[in-house]
Amino acid sequence: MDVVESVWMNKQVTGLRRLLYLVSPNETSFEKLEEVPQYVEEAAPYFMLTLFLENLILLAKKMPTMRPNDGFSSIAHGLLSLMHSFIFRGIELATYIWIYERFCIYTLPWESSWTWLLTMLGVDLGYYWVHRFGHEVNIMWAGHQVHHSSEDYNLSTALRQSMFHRYITWVFYLPLALFIPPSQFQVHLQFNLIYQFWIHTELINTIGPLEWIFNTPSHHRVHHGRNPYCIDKNYAGVFIIWDRIFGTFQPEKEKVVYGLVHPLTTWDPLYGQVCHFLHIGRMMCSMNTWQDKLSVIWKGPGWMPGKPRLGLYEDLPQVEFPAQKYDSSLPWWGSLYVWVHFLLLTAANSVLALRKNELSAVTITTHLIFLVFTLFCFGSLFDNRGYGPGLEMTRCIIYLLIASMYQPVSLQLSAFNVIFFLFLASVSMWCYLILRNFQLQLYKKKRVE
Ligand SMILES: [Zn+2]
Ligand SMILES: [Zn+2]
Repeated sequence: MDVVESVWMNKQVTGLRRLLYLVSPNETSFEKLEEVPQYVEEAAPYFMLTLFLENLILLAKKMPTMRPNDGFSSIAHGLLSLMHSFIFRGIELATYIWIYERFCIYTLPWESSWTWLLTMLGVDLGYYWVHRFGHEVNIMWAGHQVHHSSEDYNLSTALRQSMFHRYITWVFYLPLALFIPPSQFQVHLQFNLIYQFWIHTELINTIGPLEWIFNTPSHHRVHHGRNPYCIDKNYAGVFIIWDRIFGTFQPEKEKVVYGLVHPLTTWDPLYGQVCHFLHIGRMMCSMNTWQDKLSVIWKGPGWMPGKPRLGLYEDLPQVEFPAQKYDSSLPWWGSLYVWVHFLLLTAANSVLALRKNELSAVTITTHLIFLVFTLFCFGSLFDNRGYGPGLEMTRCIIYLLIASMYQPVSLQLSAFNVIFFLFLASVSMWCYLILRNFQLQLYKKKRVE
């Protein structure tokens, strides 16, 4: 193996190690916050690689693979949750630095392994309480429920994140700012998140005695379950010990049925992000007293007047086996169409995210509006909405108009031209399908007459 190959191999091994939090204090301690790498962004290709490998293994084992509609929905939620990064950096960090600079009681040395270890535990304990409040306080659940809305359980589920949850979670980490340098906090905040990717799989049954200490696929499957025995259990991020200490631990028993207690019946990621906020609004309007209206916000999602804060266990619906999943979908060519366009959008989003500092406000706003509109179109196609094809054709026309304003089109072989002609072909296809459908409807109507 030559030097180039060995450097490349090293890089890949490090990338995979990071997914499991297998990093040393030496390689991940920094004096200044600006020196901390964007570990989550650097991990993205390894997320995609392992997601691909998971599906290959599932296929080989004849187990259900990622459904095109559910996989789209999960990754779409991931894209929506990252939209904020185009506009401003993490709020949790800004407030953390503000508190650290003014109220720090004692600064632990950034280069010490003990500081590293303590921060790892401190961030994970903070995560446990963020997560527990995310399930036990209705307004926080409105954000976090997005992560639980998949009825499948695979690595793509990990990417299903809320657009809004981050605007409240930072509060839980503030005590750390009294003694831990922001650079250490930023390192562990990222690894805590990255670690939780690999536990979203059904491929790994148990990992032996390590189940005692670490959050594992088995423990986290329980957390994603809607079987009554799974509700409000296993909030851990990295270490399951917090659940054992605070009395919320539950080992896996009966086969887990995944998803929300009242599952969503749409693939529209925008509705998925806001549906519980709308539900809270409706519930508040239906309450008679101010106390009850406020209780809807701060008590658990299962609360009703006259019931305990977290609702009653008996009110939880039993699950049926085999569980019926929402599975409205498209023929294979339709799924392929959406996925080709969806991958293009994801790639464009990644490129723009890397170059966001060079882009104008108009370009960023145009991109974000187009991104949201695209995800809505794809959701409506998977949901088989009557307006889906018309909406998608409109989207392709809008792209062609915007693209031709930015760059002239030619017959030369370039990524821009290939994508332009792909959109042009898509418009023709939708035009043909819409007209054919219209003809069929007319024919049917005439036959009835
Ligand atoms: Zn949760
Ligand atoms: Zn999860």
